[in-house]
Amino acid sequence: MSSLSLITLGCAKNEVDSAAMRRRLHQAGYSFVEDPAEADVIIVNTCCFIQAATEESIDAILEVADLQHVQDGDAKIVVAGCMPARYGEELNSEFPEASSFVPCSKEDDIVKVVSDLLGEEAPVAESGTYVPQIAYADDIPGEFPSCAYVKISDGCNRMCSYCTIPFIRGRYHSFPYEDIAAEVARCVEAGVKEVTLIAQDTGRWGKDFPERSSLAWLMGSLADEFPETWFRVMYIQPEGITDELLSVMASHDNICSYLDIPLQHVDPQILRNMNRKGSAEEFLQLIDHVRECVPDVTLRTTFIAGFPGETEEAFADLIDFVSEACFDYVGVFPFSPEEGTKAAELPDQLPEDVKVSRAQDVRDVADAVSSSMIAGRIGTVAPVLVLGAEEDGQLYGRTQSQAPEVDGVTFIDGGEPGEIVNAAIIDTMFYEMEAERIEALGDSE
Ligand code: SF4
Repeated sequence: MSSLSLITLGCAKNEVDSAAMRRRLHQAGYSFVEDPAEADVIIVNTCCFIQAATEESIDAILEVADLQHVQDGDAKIVVAGCMPARYGEELNSEFPEASSFVPCSKEDDIVKVVSDLLGEEAPVAESGTYVPQIAYADDIPGEFPSCAYVKISDGCNRMCSYCTIPFIRGRYHSFPYEDIAAEVARCVEAGVKEVTLIAQDTGRWGKDFPERSSLAWLMGSLADEFPETWFRVMYIQPEGITDELLSVMASHDNICSYLDIPLQHVDPQILRNMNRKGSAEEFLQLIDHVRECVPDVTLRTTFIAGFPGETEEAFADLIDFVSEACFDYVGVFPFSPEEGTKAAELPDQLPEDVKVSRAQDVRDVADAVSSSMIAGRIGTVAPVLVLGAEEDGQLYGRTQSQAPEVDGVTFIDGGEPGEIVNAAIIDTMFYEMEAERIEALGDSE
């Protein structure tokens, strides 16, 4: 059977989609090679959320197109994911080197696409056969299989004026509890200790079911069904933060007291132009309420700097908010006008250098706030999920206050990869923490 290579660009949701394609192809009998230069078919799973991501995807496609065995016609390129979903037929003329384009919505057919390209008999796996929507950590470089992403829904109905995702991923639809729980069971069976629930809009889970349900119910049910597993949720819009969710989070030790709430801005006019709601006052009230209900909560957010029409005053309000709200972690992006979005057509577009310098200003204030928030953890005791060792043998892991890939790690002096140990935080260096192991959880009981 031919060998394949799979290159993934973009977010954790794309990692999950790649993992699902990989599993379908594995089930069909195909094997994978790390080096695309040795593959008969190279699948590039693309991202085009913003211009920078699109350029990265284009570079990846052109890089494999340059490979000698592709030039000689001995290997085929499949472009998958968000770019085919967003640009459709246009890509045929842009990338004559590619043999097939598979949008996100058609990735279930990846086995037929590949076997047709290779002129091989398509193995038995019919399209629509259910394949786990999970990305084991081994799909994520550098982390042992102790943590995984599980997608709980796809698509988005919010139509933020700067965002392309609704055009790429379509309408919001929750995945059934049974399928999600089956994924988690497979994770736990494979040794996973931490499951991060992801989607474009996690807080909306269950609202589209005939019998409406909620993210709070989902997380509570999973945490009860898998008591030894940590559960974390990312990408909750402010409207998704309910008292039900906060009480479920506060009452389950295996639900990380961690909330990733993208706010994007705090100026009411800017938020309206983003087709979003809120204000600095409303968000500060929300944060105070969250901290009241879940005192040890860790908060992450994301902002866009330099949105069209952002006055000096509106920007100053954003900076003041970042200082006052004291988020533990902050992501910030300079506004990127995406073709086909309303925001790209708005008047008062700011010069690139202004957008970049404002994003840097937010970055600087956020870094100062975050490192003092993290330093505030010195002297506290926390469970650490040991993940692995660096080349020099230094063990590292993450606490429940550190999300995968974005929040830094905790260096620790004992434990085995995949083990959860209790540890005292003895020092912090910017976003990293240092801890001394106290005991393996379960030793003291
Ligand atoms: S909620 Fe997120 S995914 Fe949905 S439209 Fe807004 S930015 Fe895009």
